[in-house]
Amino acid sequence: MSKKLSGKRAIVTGGSRGIGAAIAARLAQEGADVAITYANNAEAADRVVAAVQATGQRGFAVRADAADVEDAQAGITAAIEQLGGLDILVHNAGVAEVQLIADGDVASFRRQFGTNVDGVFAGTLAAVPRISDGGRIIVIGSIASHFTPGPGFAVYNATKAAVGHLVAGWAHDLAPRGILVNAVQPGPIDTDMNPDDGEIAALLATRIPLGRYGKPTEIAGVVAFLASDDAGYITGARIDVDGGVSL
Ligand code: NDP
Repeated sequence: MSKKLSGKRAIVTGGSRGIGAAIAARLAQEGADVAITYANNAEAADRVVAAVQATGQRGFAVRADAADVEDAQAGITAAIEQLGGLDILVHNAGVAEVQLIADGDVASFRRQFGTNVDGVFAGTLAAVPRISDGGRIIVIGSIASHFTPGPGFAVYNATKAAVGHLVAGWAHDLAPRGILVNAVQPGPIDTDMNPDDGEIAALLATRIPLGRYGKPTEIAGVVAFLASDDAGYITGARIDVDGGVSL
């Protein structure tokens, strides 16, 4: 029986660790060839490529800094060349810095907007001429677009609200080509960015209805669904996957 993403070619930005690594592995398990981008961690990227190849799919890694618009575009273009085309683009690369406005600095603002917003915009610009009609663009946003766990999240939240609006706008823009554009908005997911024994976990300890942090694989499953034919009538959606914490 053919797998649900057989023959598809996917890019996952920031695929070397955490949620991106889980998405890359899951898309490959569903039959897609996968190229990941990463910022610094070549060894971790190589491990993800090996996991992709272990499923029998083609896997590639490209170093590309999402915060540098030229590098981000070059990375997407190089990944498309290696894959021989593009059907699924997952914008996952992101950074979070907790900082009170009283201690605020423009450099932190620029780092977060650079990776979380500029990178998504620049990467999409590079992909749109090449992605196949009927393709998928999936942005890993955050419930931070509409929920804040406490002080210090203003800039990160603003970046995730911004990409939520890009998704809604691009869903309109790309609908004539049948390209579906959606966001998956994770809640607390146990990764290097937000470990389940870290500072954010302490803020959320009693506030998650399901009583636990999520796993990267629980985001990857929703991405695989949105990439599949089963999601053919979903576009412009921003889907919270958060154990109910933002209710
Ligand atoms: P991690 O910090 O665990 O992993 C981040 C990944 O992004 C790494 O692969 C890293 O590459 C890559 N990356 C970081 N900066 C850049 C950059 N400038 N250019 C290219 N790649 C980059 O994060 P998570 O897996 O937790 O987060 C993934 C996404 O999910 C982010 O967009 C985040 O905002 C979002 N999210 C996460 C939540 C959570 O609770 N974990 C909750 C809500 C949203 P490298 O290994 O080379 O450093």
